[in-house]
Amino acid sequence: MTQPGRTEDAALVLFSGGQDSATCLAWALARYPRVETVGFRYGQRHAVELECREPVRQALAGERLGPDHVVDLTATIAGLGETAMTADIAIEMGQGGLPNTFVPGRNLLFLTCAAAIAYRRGLRRIVAGVCETDYSGYPDCRDDTVKAMQLALNLGMQRRFVLETPLMWRDKAATWALAMALGGNVLVDVILERTHTCYLGNRTERHAWGFGCGTCPACQLRAQGWERWVAAGRPASGPVRDLS
Ligand code: ZN
Repeated sequence: MTQPGRTEDAALVLFSGGQDSATCLAWALARYPRVETVGFRYGQRHAVELECREPVRQALAGERLGPDHVVDLTATIAGLGETAMTADIAIEMGQGGLPNTFVPGRNLLFLTCAAAIAYRRGLRRIVAGVCETDYSGYPDCRDDTVKAMQLALNLGMQRRFVLETPLMWRDKAATWALAMALGGNVLVDVILERTHTCYLGNRTERHAWGFGCGTCPACQLRAQGWERWVAAGRPASGPVRDLS
């Protein structure tokens, strides 16, 4: 299904192997004639998400899907200090109301690396599944942060990248609805079965909303979104926060 607003631009999708970025990949494939993906290894406890990337790519593959890129930032991120995202420590709220799964600078690094790849590959649109509607409070997921990064990257690389965040104003229920609107039950099933969200890397416990421990903040967000979407009758489109 081709979405309104399609251009001839090519796109690079930040694709972790999770629900949000898989939805963004489907969104980009519906919109742009050429789409490439990039993933990051950074010492995450849930490195199993990286193994989920290729099966999801294969499920969504078509003539528009181009190469995948993997960037290893393990030494860089590890050298910046421990977090509950990268070390075996309990997940809890830290100072300032941020969970200790926050990795300072992570998404800024990801966007910078993505832009460097996009620069070399001639890709103008950079698509990220960040969201500030229904999220863990990470400041680098905010719309203002992404807009500031777009400005910085365009100045720093002398380009006109467009950073796209289709999920920014969608809650997790609306993200399931977007998947349904883009690819119907087939895409919903791909996301359900093949994507990974759980921070603890649990892929042995299967719930109605997919695999995960069921208790970490990422699992809770995914589960609550699924339950709200199902309770609403699995609509094919969901509310998007109106900022006008
Ligand atoms: Zn979990």
